[in-house]
Amino acid sequence: MQLIIFGAPGVGKGTQAKIISEKLNIRHISTGDILRDSIQKDTVTGHKAKEYMDKGFLVPDEIIGELVKEALDCEDCHKGFILDGYPRTIDQVKILDNILAQLGREDFTLIKLDADVDQLVDRLTSRRECLNCKSIVNLKLLDKPDTCPVCGKTNVFAKRKDDDAEIIRNRLKIYNETTRPVLDYYMGKKTIVRVVGTNPIEKVTEDILAALKV
Ligand SMILES: [Zn+2]
Repeated sequence: MQLIIFGAPGVGKGTQAKIISEKLNIRHISTGDILRDSIQKDTVTGHKAKEYMDKGFLVPDEIIGELVKEALDCEDCHKGFILDGYPRTIDQVKILDNILAQLGREDFTLIKLDADVDQLVDRLTSRRECLNCKSIVNLKLLDKPDTCPVCGKTNVFAKRKDDDAEIIRNRLKIYNETTRPVLDYYMGKKTIVRVVGTNPIEKVTEDILAALKV
């Protein structure tokens, strides 16, 4: 099964991609992970990517495309994959179309995790970082208030600058503006499965699997 998962920052796309990949025994390809991994292993493509990052530039689409191709073209992908974090723009869509055509893997289903902007903002502004163990926790989901569920220390939470409401709203706006054309492009060409992404994690997984009929 070949899947591409879409969803706004904070909707839990990475979490779902990981669960689905385990349940269906397909490879989870997160562009963030493969980028970090290639840099750590200092592969040819990873080395190129790092040169851009060291200069403070974004890694160009062609290089991310190469990394995605390398990830899709390996043994553990033969049962399928779930691509997470790619493609985000129309330029990336064109690169991905080419890659999948070259690999003969054009058949895929899109999973779109829907979320209300206010709900996402609410969820993200209640995120805190534990200053002791660096875990990211959600204040609303804590069993014991002010206690880190990972390391057990108390009163160690700090809000990250990135989780400020205004910054989040702006990030979501940019996300929606760049991603909408991607979804429009695939509309009518591919099966698009839409699931409410702000439900509890288990419910979202259940809905995705039901929609995929697996
Ligand atoms: Zn902690």
